[in-house]
Amino acid sequence: MNVYDSARMADVLRPLGYGPVDTPEAADMVILNTCHIRERATEKVFSELGRLRKIREERIENGQDRSIIAVAGCVAQAEGEEILRRAPYVDLVLGPQTYHRLPEMVARAARAGGAVIETDFPAEQKFDFLPAEAAPQSSGNLTAFLTIQEGCDKFCSFCVVPYTRGAETSRPVASVMAEARRMVAAGVREITLLGQNVNAYHGDNGQGGSATLAELAAELGQLDGLDRIRYMTSHPRDVDQSLIDAHRDNRALMPFLHLPVQSGSDRILKAMNRGHTADEYRESVRRLREARPDLALSSDFIVGHPGETEEDFEATMQLVRDIGFAMAYSFTYSPRPGTPAAGQPFQVAEEIKTRRLAELQALLREQQDAFNADMVGTVQDILITGKGRKPGQLSGRSPYLQPVHFEGPDHLIGTIAKVAITTRMTNSLGGTLIRETASAC
Ligand code: SAH
Ligand code: SF4
Repeated sequence: MNVYDSARMADVLRPLGYGPVDTPEAADMVILNTCHIRERATEKVFSELGRLRKIREERIENGQDRSIIAVAGCVAQAEGEEILRRAPYVDLVLGPQTYHRLPEMVARAARAGGAVIETDFPAEQKFDFLPAEAAPQSSGNLTAFLTIQEGCDKFCSFCVVPYTRGAETSRPVASVMAEARRMVAAGVREITLLGQNVNAYHGDNGQGGSATLAELAAELGQLDGLDRIRYMTSHPRDVDQSLIDAHRDNRALMPFLHLPVQSGSDRILKAMNRGHTADEYRESVRRLREARPDLALSSDFIVGHPGETEEDFEATMQLVRDIGFAMAYSFTYSPRPGTPAAGQPFQVAEEIKTRRLAELQALLREQQDAFNADMVGTVQDILITGKGRKPGQLSGRSPYLQPVHFEGPDHLIGTIAKVAITTRMTNSLGGTLIRETASAC
C-alpha cells in the first residue's frame, strides 16, 4: 500500500513541477514513506533521516537549493511529534490519510520556514483529490496497485494498523472503476486491489446499497483490456460464499490468494483476537480449492506472540503441513507501543522466537520449492512484462507471481502468452514460448 501511496503523492505533486529522480542527492524534496508495522521498520526511519540530512548539507555546500525533507506514512502518523523532536530538521510530517494536502503543505513550509505537521484523520477522502491524469506505476505500466479499502476495526492484539491507518472505510465503486479505467487506458493489464482487509470491502454501489469485493471484481472483470485481477490482504473472517463463488466464476481473478493465518493454535488465535479457529481456516481453504482447484495460497505468520508455548507453535507447524503454502511471509512477534499484546505478561524470549521462526521458515521454504518444482512440465499463461536479463530473452509473471524467463520477440511485451515451464531456479522459472497469444486465464 505504501507503493500505491507513494505513486499518488507523486501524482499530486506533479502539477507543482515535481517529478521523480533516481537518487536522493538529485532531489529538491525527499519524501520518506514509512511503515510502523514492526519495530525494525520504524528504527530504519531515523537512520535514513540522518543520511538525508547529510545529503542536504552537501547540496548546500555545492551551492544547490536546500532540499525539503518530508516523512509520510504510518511512522509519521504514530510518532509525528517524536520525529520533530529527534530530527528537528524535518520540514513536513504527514500521515497516510493526508497526502492530498501535500501541495498546500509544501507551500506552507516554504512560506513559514518551519515544520508543518498533518496527522489528523480528515473528513474528506484523499481519493477524491487525486488528479484525473494520474499515471500508474511499476513493471512498465502493465501492472498496478489500486487501493479500494483502508483502515481496520478488527484490533488484533499485536497490530498498530487500526491506530495508524484509522477506521475501516471503502471507496465507492464509481471511484474505483474510474481509477481502474484510467489505468487500463494507460496500458495496465493486471490490477491488484489493495486494502488492510480488502475482502471486508463494502463500497457505495451508487444505487443506495453497497457492493461486495466479489461484485466489484465482477464489474472490473468486464473492463476491456484488464486481464488479471488480484486482491490483498484478505482476512479469513471475511471469506464469504460470494468470494468463494467469484473464484469459480470470475476468470479474471487470479488463482493465487494471500490469506494470512498468523498461527495454527486456537489458543493463540483467540489471544490475537483473530475471530476464527484453525479448523475454520482449514475449512475456508477447502471450499476455496473446491471452487478453484488450481488455487494456491500464501500467508503471514507471527511466531512468539505472548503466551505461545511449544505446543502452540507445533499447532502452527501442523497447519502449515496440512494446507501447503506456495509462498509466505513470517515474522517474530514485535511488541508495538499502545497495542494490547505489548503489555501482556508471558512475553516469549527472543532466542525462542528466533529458533521457532527458523523452523517455520525451513518448512515454508520446502513447500515453496516444491510448489515451484511442480510447475515444471506445466503450461502457464505468462503476462510478459519486459526484456529478460540475456539478449533475446523476455520475462513475465505467472498467475502465481513467479518470475518466468524465456526466449521470444520484443513485440510480445504487454501480451499474455502460453509458456511451457522447463526449469526451476531458486526464485524464478525458465520456459519455452509455445503460443504467442492467449486469452486471460
Ligand atoms: N490485515 C492483515 C495484515 C496486515 S499487517 C491481516 O489481518 O492479516 C501485515 C502482517 O504483518 C500481518 O499479517 C502480520 O503477520 C505482520 N505483523 C503485524 N503486526 C506485527 C507485530 N506486532 N509483530 C510481528 N509481525 C506483525
Ligand atoms: Fe492488523 Fe489485519 Fe488485525 Fe486489522 S485485521 S488489526 S490490519 S492484523
